[in-house]
Amino acid sequence: MTVFRDLFWFFRQEKKAYITGIIVLLIVAFFETIPPKVIGIMIDHIKEGTITKAILIRWMVTLLVVAIVLYVLRYWWRILIFGSAVKLSRQLRNELYAHFTKMSPSFYQRKRIGDLMAHATNDLQAIQQTAGSGILTLVDSLMLGGFVLATMAFTISWKLTIISLLPMPVMAIATSRYGTLLHQRFLKAQEAFSSLNDKVQESISGIRVIKAFGYEQDDIESFRKQSEDVVSKNVAVARVDALFDPTISLIVGISFFLAVTFGAKMVIAGELTIGDLVSFTTYLGLLIWPMLAFGWLFNIVERGRASYDRVRALLDEKEEIQEAENAIAAPPTGDIVYDIQQFTYPNEEKPVLRNIRFHLRRGQTLGIVGKTGAGKTTLLKLLIREFDQYDGEIRFGDHEISEYTLHALRSSIGYVPQDHFLFSATVRENIAFACPEASEEDVIKAAKLANIHEDIEQFADGYETIVGERGVSLSGGQKQRISIARALLLNPEVLILDDSLSAVDAKTEERILTALKENRAGKTTIITAHRLSAIQHADLILVLEEGCIAQMGTHEELMREGGWYRNMYERQQLESLVEQGGQVWKINR
Ligand code: ADP
Repeated sequence: MTVFRDLFWFFRQEKKAYITGIIVLLIVAFFETIPPKVIGIMIDHIKEGTITKAILIRWMVTLLVVAIVLYVLRYWWRILIFGSAVKLSRQLRNELYAHFTKMSPSFYQRKRIGDLMAHATNDLQAIQQTAGSGILTLVDSLMLGGFVLATMAFTISWKLTIISLLPMPVMAIATSRYGTLLHQRFLKAQEAFSSLNDKVQESISGIRVIKAFGYEQDDIESFRKQSEDVVSKNVAVARVDALFDPTISLIVGISFFLAVTFGAKMVIAGELTIGDLVSFTTYLGLLIWPMLAFGWLFNIVERGRASYDRVRALLDEKEEIQEAENAIAAPPTGDIVYDIQQFTYPNEEKPVLRNIRFHLRRGQTLGIVGKTGAGKTTLLKLLIREFDQYDGEIRFGDHEISEYTLHALRSSIGYVPQDHFLFSATVRENIAFACPEASEEDVIKAAKLANIHEDIEQFADGYETIVGERGVSLSGGQKQRISIARALLLNPEVLILDDSLSAVDAKTEERILTALKENRAGKTTIITAHRLSAIQHADLILVLEEGCIAQMGTHEELMREGGWYRNMYERQQLESLVEQGGQVWKINR
């Protein structure tokens, strides 16, 4: 029951609804004890032959009034209690969502998306149930049960009440045993459901790869297996669940047996009237619901406990990237200076960056090249503070980057990642993503700079064409250029193109680079690339090799120096010559 204590903050927040709801439930419980009494009285009148029309009408009216009052009150408490419970799940859902958006990429690396989805759906539902049905059953089993018991004991016979309730301890034991079992099995079912969620999410995201490799059948098979696992684990839950009701019915049956046997004896001995016995057995019938509710309570509370713990654990996860106290809210401008001894990813052993030291002046262009896995992206991720735990410092303008608020730092930087993402929205909305109030001209200007304007004009609805999963299919290069336009629209102090020109051809690349040069005078640009032509004109070029700076300088300096850069440059020149030659050859044919 500790989950009620943990949820106390919420009950306090909604105290008006809960207190009124509980009072209404109490009145309901009281009114429910009236009809059996009336039936008993009527039967005694019939037996004694004292029934008159007036008496009949009086009690009929009483029953009718009770029924109407119960109808209204039952509706009312449902609104109050279940209505509040919905608010709890809404509140937790919003909190979770806000929390998810704050977490850094390493959080998403550790967590499976399917799990997170399961928390946001199933777990919240279980918690909502605890705050709704849980409270209801708690109050009902105690109040209604208590009222009925008290009425039985004090207005009919306490002796018969004790005798009829003898089987109760057995029920308490059975319920608690089932409760534990249910809890264990429920956890397993929930885990299986998370895995299934994860599988579906992954398969749908990767459907193109699955199809391209003709892996559909295997994927269906592996889905079927997981789905069966979910079913079998839920069946295991249902098995225990299914034991609840029969067990309770059996115990209630024994209770009835005792009540009728001993009650009849008491009637014969003149200790009770027939009417009393009828009332008594009707009351016993009324006790079934509170007893069941008690069994359910275990069930609901166990689920709520597990779910609440998981959601809380998620919410309690600290953001890895913390802002400094009194962080500077003004977006940084100025030189960027790296002075890093080393950086190792969380939970990894080997450092991915070592001795990264360079000074980039404001307005300069930095080119970073090196083999895949050399650490180019990592180096950039440190600048936007996706990761924090490095030895050394990175300065931007007059301060270290950790001294700015995250918002300030990131609003100075336009980052075009390798794995660009387009939302299922119009082209215009995608470009204006970080700047929704941008004017039409600005959007077009950014698109022109990114060399995508003409392509967009060709789309059926131009800038209003829907892209992304539910829209038009774009080529990799078009997606890349829309992502670039998105970053350019912000006209950021620092523009980062992280291998963002890989899917466009050499000519388009050149056009984009020239446009950038003209439009970003005085602003810093950082480009990582495989094609050296993309960074050839940079003011500073870093050649990364296994996380270290192997070479550093301008194109001319690096060409003079020889080594990886010159070898690569010459090889790529040759390749492009061959390519062009190929085209010339094709044209000539
Ligand atoms: P590049 O951009 O030059 O291809 P990366 O910076 O992406 O290189 O990767 C550098 C190294 O860091 C690689 O060995 C890669 O496996 C590793 N790495 C990249 N991202 C992570 C991460 N989030 N967690 C752990 N290791 C990572």
